[in-house]
Amino acid sequence: MVIAAVNPNDVLEDASEGGAPRTGARIDIRHVSHGFALRGETLPVLDDVTLTVQPGEFVALLGPSGCGKSTLLRLVAGLEPPGKGSVEADGHVIGAPDPSRVLVFQDPTLFPWRTVRENVALGPQAQGARRGKGAVEVEARIDAALERVGLTEFAHAWPHQLSGGMAQRVALARGLVNDPALLALDEPFGKLDSLTRMRMQGELVALWQRARFSVLFVTHDVEEALVMATRVVVFSGRPARIISEVRNEAPYPRHRDDIALVELRKGVLAQLGIEV
Ligand code: ADP
Repeated sequence: MVIAAVNPNDVLEDASEGGAPRTGARIDIRHVSHGFALRGETLPVLDDVTLTVQPGEFVALLGPSGCGKSTLLRLVAGLEPPGKGSVEADGHVIGAPDPSRVLVFQDPTLFPWRTVRENVALGPQAQGARRGKGAVEVEARIDAALERVGLTEFAHAWPHQLSGGMAQRVALARGLVNDPALLALDEPFGKLDSLTRMRMQGELVALWQRARFSVLFVTHDVEEALVMATRVVVFSGRPARIISEVRNEAPYPRHRDDIALVELRKGVLAQLGIEV
């Protein structure tokens, strides 16, 4: 495990507003349907999706490519409003992006002219300046985020000097520095080689276990979903409808060849129309 052991409370209590530790967000998606205008017609993408994420839950959204998973994540992130239905965080309608809800993409998109630390510093420095927070506090949060993802030694490295996994750790640190109540990840390990991918899955679970944020994790990889999540929500092809939900009580750390996971995998694949 690359991530250094730190007490998340040291960071969270300082980072959240009012000094109180932040807990994971509760997300309520109610009867959401959504579509896109395409050549004068509407392309239906989400069909009456209702889903609640409990505070601190790790929910994987699993479904075929192009079914509408990223679109759902964008609505939860507040990047656009749903065509029909509602999306709420802790009882408040999500109307715009907010630093408490962090979205991490497949491509880490780091600024090549900024060091690792400077990339992580971008958000908090802007917010700190806006809210009149002390520079010392902001610097401490940046250091803590880098430590949490095991990148302290690479703080002054440039993006072109990083491996794919390290770059994605920077993207995670950039999110964690906001002390998120929700971490929404859109196929974050999709471009990594399989060994790095497995390592990153373990690291993300460890981060989630130490902090208390809720997780929405989009993937089309059944094993990835089952190895990480406490609940797997399975979507149909586009327009995405929820076809089933699988609770996964297996203890961590999980191994993909655990007998319980192998059985769950068969069931989920069958729901996706693949018999093994
Ligand atoms: P997934 O994440 O499950 O792979 P997406 O949510 O990215 O699927 O996309 C679902 C469908 O919506 C795809 O057919 C995609 O082409 C379409 N789509 C996504 N965003 C837009 C957009 N801004 N305008 C038009 N069509 C879009």
